[in-house]
Amino acid sequence: MLEKIPPWEYNMYKLKMSDYTSMRTGGVARAQIVTDTSFLKYNKQLILGLGTNTLFSDEGYDGEVLIMRNSSFQIDGNVVTAESGTPLPILSRAVAQSGLSGLEWACGIPGSVGGAIVMNAGAYGGEIADVLLSVDVLTFGGKVTVSASELTSSYRTIQGLPDGVILSAKFALKTTSAETVKRTMQSFAEKRKASQPTGRTLGSTFKKANGKSAGKYIDEAGLKGYRIGGARVSEKHANFILSEGGTSADVRKLIDYIKLRVYATFGVKLAEEIKYAGEF
Ligand SMILES: Cc1cc2nc3c(=O)[nH]c(=O)nc-3n(C[C@H](O)[C@H](O)[C@H](O)COP(=O)(O)OP(=O)(O)OC[C@H]3O[C@@H](n4cnc5c(N)ncnc54)[C@H](O)[C@@H]3O)c2cc1C
Repeated sequence: MLEKIPPWEYNMYKLKMSDYTSMRTGGVARAQIVTDTSFLKYNKQLILGLGTNTLFSDEGYDGEVLIMRNSSFQIDGNVVTAESGTPLPILSRAVAQSGLSGLEWACGIPGSVGGAIVMNAGAYGGEIADVLLSVDVLTFGGKVTVSASELTSSYRTIQGLPDGVILSAKFALKTTSAETVKRTMQSFAEKRKASQPTGRTLGSTFKKANGKSAGKYIDEAGLKGYRIGGARVSEKHANFILSEGGTSADVRKLIDYIKLRVYATFGVKLAEEIKYAGEF
């Protein structure tokens, strides 16, 4: 007898996670690329947005992964509703064209709306929690809407979201002129270009510690350019690790080494901003 596959599992494939993360490392997992969330069921799957903050194990992941590629959005006055897979650069440019301010800082962050909410992503004095109105989450029990007033946010974290898949979010922006927004975005893009490397990376590896950037500690510990296997600390920005044909294991070894050296030098314990997926 043929096994009946439930509709939310129609598109499950064995995929190389290195193709879905910006570090370009990671093994195989049973994964579904989600463009339409109507048949989705939440069943403790691991959720991946654009994989720009997630280090996947070289051994892959023993479970199911949902890769969110639901990416439509609407602008209604100063309120923007965006599906969770929408890339931040696309959203921030679109709202800029409508003369809306509040997402300028997001133009150079390569992640998705869902990942940005989980991470409370931010840059240049702005963060996603500042403009969030509500989040729709698919939980075990179905879809719930969580209003921003039910959430608490701090540096790179948001608390109060139920366990589940972020489906979409609403943002309240301010009406201003498209020219002003574009000028601000241009200046952020120039700052980013001057201070950050390009390549296979997850951006900032560690969170700030004691109000000081992790990159400063790493630089002052003499680790710029330090390499383990195919993973290297960027010379341009010490909090960025670049993978040059390396593995996730190389990256993890380098992370552990940085933590040891910074602790030995300054007595400071660095904590990862990035997320791990699978066994390390
Ligand atoms: C070059 C570069 C520059 C960067 N600059 C910045 C910066 O300036 N500021 C900043 O804050 N970050 C920065 N980042 C990090 C990263 O882009 C952000 O954290 C981004 O918001 C992560 O989004 P993502 O979709 O890639 O998340 P992923 O890595 O896919 O996921 C991150 C976390 O969110 C969860 N998640 C993702 N989508 C969903 C969903 N739909 N529902 C539930 N959970 C979900 C995942 O399970 C995981 O725990 C940078 C990264 C790179 C590579």
